[in-house]
Amino acid sequence: MLFALQPLMRQLPSIDKVLQSEGLKDAIKVYSRQFVADVVREVLEGLRKEIKVRSQESGVRSQKIETLVRQRIEQKLKPSLKKVINLSGTILHTNLGRAILCDEAVEAIRTAAANPVNLEFDVELGERGDRDSHIESLICYLTGAEAATVVNNNVAAVFLTLNTLAEGRDVVISRGELVEIGGSFRIPDVIKKSGCNLVEVGTTNRTHHEDYTNAINPNTAFLLKAHTSNYRIIGFASSVPLKELVSIGRKHSLPVIEDLGSGSLVDISMFGLPKEPVVRESIEAGADVVTFSGDKLLGGPQAGIIVGKRDFIKRLRNNPLKRALRLDKLTIAGLETTLKLYLNIETLPQKLPILRFLTRPVSDIEKTAKDAANLLKNHMNGFEINIEDSCSQIGSGSLPEETIPTKVISITHKNISPEKIFDMFLKSTHPILGRVYKGKFLLDMRMIEDTGDLEIQKLNLNPA
Ligand SMILES: *Cc1c(COP(=O)(O)O)cnc(C)c1O
Repeated sequence: MLFALQPLMRQLPSIDKVLQSEGLKDAIKVYSRQFVADVVREVLEGLRKEIKVRSQESGVRSQKIETLVRQRIEQKLKPSLKKVINLSGTILHTNLGRAILCDEAVEAIRTAAANPVNLEFDVELGERGDRDSHIESLICYLTGAEAATVVNNNVAAVFLTLNTLAEGRDVVISRGELVEIGGSFRIPDVIKKSGCNLVEVGTTNRTHHEDYTNAINPNTAFLLKAHTSNYRIIGFASSVPLKELVSIGRKHSLPVIEDLGSGSLVDISMFGLPKEPVVRESIEAGADVVTFSGDKLLGGPQAGIIVGKRDFIKRLRNNPLKRALRLDKLTIAGLETTLKLYLNIETLPQKLPILRFLTRPVSDIEKTAKDAANLLKNHMNGFEINIEDSCSQIGSGSLPEETIPTKVISITHKNISPEKIFDMFLKSTHPILGRVYKGKFLLDMRMIEDTGDLEIQKLNLNPA
């Protein structure tokens, strides 16, 4: 064997020799000789390994080395972060980057990206300003809070609040709220990491008034309430409502902090959607600090918003951690523009994509589904393609059992499994994320407003 390998290895050309080949001239002009040489080295190393493993010449002879180099360059330069068409039925999909922004926000981000902006500069006074100033009064107006600040995401908001107001002290929380939100965010872990002592009260299904009062001691910093988001205990269950928790807090001179998760700035039940917690209602119930996400129901860019009493917010701002968790100019631009849409409730459901998707009439979704199904039928011989009733869900911690009626295209094949069809769509020319449910592959058409966006004729569906 070893004897046979030597000549094969010797047949591999040197890096310099490959770089001289006609087919790489253009690549060297565009990407520099150094980069192409590094790719050639990688390709040659790969071939050497292949020869060792397979002791065959086939890999070397069947494809020209320069072709392999060009293919690898192309692969390296393809964007890793790319558009995915979300037909999964989960509208705020955390793995797909949650809310998509309104046009105004996209435009504002473009401007901020391409230009210097008055991020921390007061143009009126001609002196240094504060980056929170661009959105604070707007957030206060929309939530009824005294003050507001913003950080990178809601976990950062919770972390900053805990670390600022309770480091080295006790934080009391119900066992029913010690949940994992997903993506490895576990409330108890965050409490511990922020330097606070976690004091669990009650049981998983029931926590009472006295459970809190019995836990309070001189080292207690505050009472924490966390929205259980993606999880609900039903049956023999009870918890202490925020209002009652606030009265306990007041009696013992302790602040009450609430992590709302996907708090909404408006009551979305007014649009016929399931009721979700509203930030203003928590402020009105007396919460001293409330945290929530910018990219969940709010429909903006990834951010964590903290609202509440002026003194507390001021202390958060003075924590050196705030500097590490602060927002960049792009996010502030996108968030400010998104928040301004809320100044007109009439136009909000049309302008804010998340609400536009959620309030889209089923008849409209059905029309898109029919168009798309017809195009798919022409494109997919041998597949069974139908339109069915199904449900979409909000996602990102809104209650999963609160689903919204929709229309889906179901695609099945007598010899190809639904998992395989799922894969075909995901690995097509442009990734399309559907879902497999009860033995069928489904495409939820709620988020497709124009079948042209699917570019069905260009889909390269390959069951291999
Ligand atoms: C989603 C959620 C978080 C995490 O928010 P991010 O913006 O993802 O950091 C924290 N708490 C609750 C209750 C949530 O629902």
